[in-house]
Amino acid sequence: MAPERSEKTDKAATVIYIGGWGRSGSTLLCRALGQLDGWIAVGEIRSVWQDGILGNYTCGCSAPFHECGFWRAVFDLAFDGMHADQAEHMIRAQALMPTWRLLTMPERVLRRRLSGRMTDYVAALERLYRAIAEVSGASVIVDSSKYPAYAYALDAAREIDLNLCHLVRDPRACTFSWTRRRKTQPFGKMKSIGPVQNSLHWNQRNRVLRSIWGRRSRQYALLRYEDFVSHPSEGIRSVRSLAEDALAAPGFLSDKDITLGPSHMVAGNPNRFETGRITVREDREWITGLPARDQAMVRLFCFPGMRMYGYA
Ligand SMILES: [Zn+2]
Repeated sequence: MAPERSEKTDKAATVIYIGGWGRSGSTLLCRALGQLDGWIAVGEIRSVWQDGILGNYTCGCSAPFHECGFWRAVFDLAFDGMHADQAEHMIRAQALMPTWRLLTMPERVLRRRLSGRMTDYVAALERLYRAIAEVSGASVIVDSSKYPAYAYALDAAREIDLNLCHLVRDPRACTFSWTRRRKTQPFGKMKSIGPVQNSLHWNQRNRVLRSIWGRRSRQYALLRYEDFVSHPSEGIRSVRSLAEDALAAPGFLSDKDITLGPSHMVAGNPNRFETGRITVREDREWITGLPARDQAMVRLFCFPGMRMYGYA
């Protein structure tokens, strides 16, 4: 089992990791948390090697990744620059631990893998997050990568104090969002997947996150998307407590409105580019937009989880 928070020494970075299935509102939550004093939102940083280093996609600040001053400084400090061969190595290492492994491999085998053939990978992650903390001056890094296996690898790094925000959304709403095609200007379209595949992923992600982190109460907070958008300040308070951040209520939140500034989020929903005051509300279009047959199929596949999280 990963070390508990109190056993970690020389922590260079406290990470709030948003785990869950895609289209659950993680980009908005990440950005909102990134507005807190001393916090920085970096988006889906698991994709930094593919989308940032190799793909040179647009950063949340609207600069091409290779030209973003923030990320250049981070990679200069951590790795003496941005290197394609290193990115390819990191992507290969990520593939050694897919999410399903966390359900099928004993924990001692997983830990051995991380401290054996994946040692370099974990050490590189440590350097990356340490550099983000140093360059930004932030004490808390908000990472919306969502993948459980990536969180598991981060948790193995001695210098990273990982805390998990388990974000859940009604799987019928996720399915509707996944089946809708949406532009992600300036780099093509978001992927589209069907109700069965969506249901399988939803079950797997939530089951893994709950079974591994759900029993570590000091490192874990469950947040439903629907509760977050109904009462954003309540949701943010529950996540904030993970980082033992007891500062006064933030000024960027007022009831239903969140004021978002620019960010350097690596990847995620296209709304990572929006700035200014936005009104938060639940997207309920799925109720009429997702065909009844698909709603029934998702309910059939996801029923135990839907009951557990209050959706059935
Ligand atoms: Zn940037």
